[in-house]
Parts: sequence; C-alpha cells; structure tokens
Amino acid sequence: MEREVEVAVIGAGQAGLAAAHSLRRYFEPESGFVVFDHNPGPGGAWQHRWPTLTFKTVNRVYQLPDMAVPEPDEDTPVADVIPGYFAEYERAFDLRVQRPVSVEAVRSLPDKRLAVETDRGTWTARALINATGTWERPFWPRYPGQEAFGGRQLHTAQYRGPEEFEGKRVIVVGGGISGIQHLMEIAPLAAETHWVTRRPPEWREGEFDSEYGREVVAKVEERVRRGLRPRSVISVTGLPLSPEVRAAREAGVLDRLPMFDRIEPDGARWEDGRFVEADTIIWATGFRASLDHLAPLKLRGPRGGIAMDGTRVAADPRIHLVGYGPSASTIGANRAGRTAVREIRELLAT
Ligand SMILES: Cc1cc2nc3c(=O)[nH]c(=O)nc-3n(C[C@H](O)[C@H](O)[C@H](O)COP(=O)(O)OP(=O)(O)OC[C@H]3O[C@@H](n4cnc5c(N)ncnc54)[C@H](O)[C@@H]3O)c2cc1C
Repeated sequence: MEREVEVAVIGAGQAGLAAAHSLRRYFEPESGFVVFDHNPGPGGAWQHRWPTLTFKTVNRVYQLPDMAVPEPDEDTPVADVIPGYFAEYERAFDLRVQRPVSVEAVRSLPDKRLAVETDRGTWTARALINATGTWERPFWPRYPGQEAFGGRQLHTAQYRGPEEFEGKRVIVVGGGISGIQHLMEIAPLAAETHWVTRRPPEWREGEFDSEYGREVVAKVEERVRRGLRPRSVISVTGLPLSPEVRAAREAGVLDRLPMFDRIEPDGARWEDGRFVEADTIIWATGFRASLDHLAPLKLRGPRGGIAMDGTRVAADPRIHLVGYGPSASTIGANRAGRTAVREIRELLAT
C-alpha cells in the first residue's frame, strides 16, 4: 500500500466525505489522497445516534455533494438510513475509506511533510484535512458531590430512548436541543422530570432562513478567528419553537431551573436550600472537538481555541479543520470540504 500521499483526511463523516469528494476530482485515491476513519462502518457519528432521533426530530440532514439524501417516512430513525447512504456515496465516488483505522498522532517532519501515525502504521502527507467531529468527546461538567450520587448518570451520547426512564425521577442538565428532546420524550413515562440549565433558555420564533443561517455562521466564525473555543451553533441561534416544543412548554415540561450547586447521593441541592430528589441525571451538555491526535502540532493558542482563517489553521496552512466551529453542521461541512480542497490545491501548487 502507498504510504506517501498529497493529502490525508481524518474522519469519514459528512465533513470528511465532502472533502474527499472534492479531492477525488484532482487526486487518485490511495496514492494521491487517503481517508482514515476509526468507526467499523460508514455513517460517521450518525451510526451511533439514538433510535428516537428520527427524520422528524432531527433538524435537517443535508445531502452530500452530488447525491440526493434518502427521504424516508419521517418516523424512520436517522441511524437506520444515513450509514447506508454514506456507504453508497463512498462506493459511487470510489473514495476507498481506510477503516477501522485510528489516527493516534500527527507530527510535523523536518522536510515539511506531516506524519500521520495510525494503529496501522504511518502515512506521510503534504496537507491534512481534519474532519473528526465531536461525537467521541462528550463534555461532562464537574459539580461537587457528583461521584457520590447514588443513581445513574449518563451523557446524551449514551441516551438510547425514553423507555428505560419509566417511573424514574430524572434531572436533565443542558440548554440545547438534545436536552429539550430528551425531556419531551421522557416526561410522559417518568415519575418526574426537571430541567436545569446554566442560562435561561432563549426561544426563537420564526423561520430559520438562509440569511439568519449566514448571520449565525458569521458569529461562530468570528470566535474561531480570534482563537477562542467554538461555541455550539445552538448557543447562537436560540432554541426553535416548533409546535411540539410549544406544547411541551404549555404542559410545564420545559419549566427551567437554574444550575444546582451540588449533587447529593439522592438528588441535587441549590444554595438557597432547594432540593430535588432524583435517581437519574442526564448530562445533555454537548460535545467538544475531537482533536487530541493533533496535540503534537501545538495548534492551540492562549485563548484555548485554535485560531482559524476560514477552514485553515491560521498558524499552519497545511492543516484545515472541517466540520469544526462554524462548519459543524451538515450544510456547513459540505461547504468547508470544498473550500479546504481549493486552498490546499493552491498551497500544493506553490
Ligand atoms: C444529536 C445530534 C443531532 C444533530 N442533528 C443535526 C441536523 O439535524 N442537521 C445538521 O446539519 N447537523 C446536525 N448535527 C450536527 C451534525 O451531526 C454534524 O455537524 C455533522 O454530521 C458532523 O459531521 P462530521 O463529519 O463533522 O463528524 P462525524 O459524523 O462525527 O464524523 C467524524 C468521523 O471521524 C472519525 N474519527 C474521529 N477521530 C478519529 C481518529 N483519531 N482517527 C480516525 N477517525 C477518527 C469518527 O470515527 C467519525 O466517523 C447534530 C449533532 C448531534 C450531536
């Protein structure tokens, strides 16, 4: 197998496949570019999403470039369809994803190539497109007493649907869409549910049109340009008020409590003495970018993030991050893949 390539892509989710599709127009698979993914099969993070995340409850999955995404019955779980669609995509465009291959570290070599160290050996490349998503880095905040909690704690990444919470007293922590979806599913079965968030939720009326979409992306882009950690798109957009969400609010399912101060063995305690008994805490507290394998490149700046110029790492034009910050959506990932390949071709031509 050829171990020297022009471009290496890490990750075969929406962002990695969109980039690979653009690369395929200019480079041969395996000798010109290579795509690594450590999941056992196609589908990126979609293959792990819970069964009640259906085409109705998901926001919208945009198609990959040049192949329509299936539009099944809206009650179909996304995880049942998208992996097959990605598999077909990889076949149709001959992308030859190497899997399961884990990239463990990327290092800069003295000759300016990059060494991509994997559990199947090392490849070298002149440029890198990192598309490793966030799913594998669930974020769990820490609160006093958390280790002594006598019930069960889980993260959104481990949520498999509402049935297992029947008759339970559940606290859901987190002000994003996942948190409200968990509450809306669990509340009809649970003995009690409580919603706890750091900031009061910001509800958003009206359509999420493309102009508003552009404004949102610009806000996240501004953060990463300044070298700050990207915020989730939802923290900028606010929570969309669908008819289902309105009904849940009216039913009191989305009455929000401020963040508790400590966790006790049988519930959560606030400074003012309030106590809520619970046997389950669900941390719907989001994800962080999976970038540990890039640590040897020392890309992070003093403000905790990686300063970016579009998809390019400002300090190292060989490296592009796609599906990161402003492009962490299926439509953003498509655009980012194209941009990264255009800039890398310019770089390699110099
Ligand atoms: C619950 C949920 C619902 C969402 N709903 C929507 C929606 O409706 N619409 C929308 O546009 N966006 C949605 N998003 C966001 C959307 O999922 C992502 O923006 C997009 O799908 C992520 O694609 P990706 O390619 O960046 O990452 P992923 O799909 O996570 O793919 C990354 C791939 O990289 C691989 N990888 C990671 N690290 C390594 C490594 N070191 N070596 C090798 N391979 C590695 C992983 O195995 C994985 O296959 C949602 C996110 C969540 C969590």
